[in-house]
Amino acid sequence: AQALTQDFDFFYFVQQWPASYCDTRRSCCYPTTGKPDEDFSIHGLWPNYENGKWPQNCDMESSLDESEFSDLISTMEKNWPSLACPSSDGLKFWSHEWLKHGTCSALNQHAYFQTALDFKTKSNLLQNLNNAGIKPRNGEHYSVESIKNAIEEGVGHTPFIECNVDSQGNHQLYQVYLCVDSSASNFIDCPIFPHGGKCGSKIEFPPFSSNDDHDEF
Ligand code: 5GP
Ligand code: 5GP
Ligand code: 5GP
Repeated sequence: AQALTQDFDFFYFVQQWPASYCDTRRSCCYPTTGKPDEDFSIHGLWPNYENGKWPQNCDMESSLDESEFSDLISTMEKNWPSLACPSSDGLKFWSHEWLKHGTCSALNQHAYFQTALDFKTKSNLLQNLNNAGIKPRNGEHYSVESIKNAIEEGVGHTPFIECNVDSQGNHQLYQVYLCVDSSASNFIDCPIFPHGGKCGSKIEFPPFSSNDDHDEF
């Protein structure tokens, strides 16, 4: 087993907008536990270096052990659903995030998942956007600046916004990156922003559409 040292500088805490994930992949599969709420959900908590690189897969001998976080599973099903196909209960996604990123975090499995859940609550993204009049709506375009400002107003730090492209070619809000200090205690200003997922100036914030092409339910 590895020594639990913090060989990284900060975390990206990444949340996704499920309706946009479904649009990007052309299809998605709702979790076996049911259609997710119309809310942001957790993608992961990713150790990172200030130069933009990151460590991953830090303990090849680790494996996900549900018994270590059984008290969190129902909360994770709600806040950290997997929308990949085929439909799943989330364990595969959580295992992927734990093995790739969590094993580099210096946290144990329970603390890793608990911390991510706590930061989702603290970030309160949907409410912060709502407070600025930014709501998921078809056909409406919001400026990236207004979205960043609304989140900064609530969280105290500027997020990075990643976009993807919907089936009609419009850019839409896909993921929100916030930064967390290496002891996983507080949001901080991001030392460096990620690359890619450029937005353009105006983007969509889509609701779940009734005619999304889901392979499975
Ligand atoms: P993508 O190429 O889709 O942006 O990212 C693929 C995967 O690489 C992500 O799910 C994540 O695991 C990892 N990744 C991408 N960008 C970053 C980054 O800036 N920092 C870290 N720590 N991981 C990243
Ligand atoms: P990353 O390596 O980018 O952190 O994680 C992405 C991996 O998790 C991919 O293999 C992707 O297929 C899988 N995955 C499962 N469910 C989801 C989901 O709901 N959202 C995203 N972004 N990836 C998911
Ligand atoms: P700047 O950071 O120089 O103001 O912006 C450079 C480009 O990045 C512009 O096209 C701007 O719209 C875009 N941009 C600014 N902030 C973000 C962000 O948080 N995410 C993404 N994807 N693009 C951004």
